[in-house]
Amino acid sequence: MGFSFFLPHFLFRGDKYHCNICGFHAYKFLQRGHDYSIITKLEIIGAGKREVDCPKCGSSDRDRLILEYFKCNFSPEQLIGKKLLHVAPEKSLSKKLASEFQLDIVKIDLRTKGYFFTYDKSVIHGNVMDLPFESNFFDFIICNHVLEHVENVETALKEIHRTLKTGGIAITQVPMSLKIPHTLEGQISWNKHERIEKLGQFDHLRLFGSDFEERLKTAKLLPIYWSMNNLQLKQKLKLGNHEFVIASKKK
Ligand SMILES: [Zn+2]
Repeated sequence: MGFSFFLPHFLFRGDKYHCNICGFHAYKFLQRGHDYSIITKLEIIGAGKREVDCPKCGSSDRDRLILEYFKCNFSPEQLIGKKLLHVAPEKSLSKKLASEFQLDIVKIDLRTKGYFFTYDKSVIHGNVMDLPFESNFFDFIICNHVLEHVENVETALKEIHRTLKTGGIAITQVPMSLKIPHTLEGQISWNKHERIEKLGQFDHLRLFGSDFEERLKTAKLLPIYWSMNNLQLKQKLKLGNHEFVIASKKK
């Protein structure tokens, strides 16, 4: 996040880009991410230095993509009153999903060091590897760029599967390279520099490869990929060229 984050959002007013979450029209979005060489080399999806953050609500390209997924794949009747678990919730996305679709949203976060300040009391303290909810409870779960931080992916996926209703949908975006067939697990001994160099971020525990699909299937979550066909809108919302929604349905 650059210096421009501290400037008032109206200075960025314009007609080139649009935030579907807060409705702001901007000539420029704010910068996020890093240009580490591994990100370019492995074409890591959902990473990299880019100007994509809304100056008004702070939404990122991936938050706006998830909102479009809901808009394009469900009718209002399919969403009203449905239970959604938002893990490590992006504030503006959560608020918008609740107001636009009247989803019944439960928010949870582990409040990991460095991320704590963003959450208020409405966010339950909890771990995605041990969800404090009964089985078959949620219609939707959003777990957006979380699984690269958790100790055990299989345990987290099991919990997501357990707490979803049959036919429920999990959205599990992760930084991923389709150039590597197997997820690269970081070593405990790696320092921040080695994690940046090998995984693309200092606090990531792994870099997912194309085997992520198999891991979802093993957890009995059937992947359904979605990306935007409307290229004009995609550009207006400044969504990543290669990022697609990884939604999966509980069998
Ligand atoms: Zn916005």
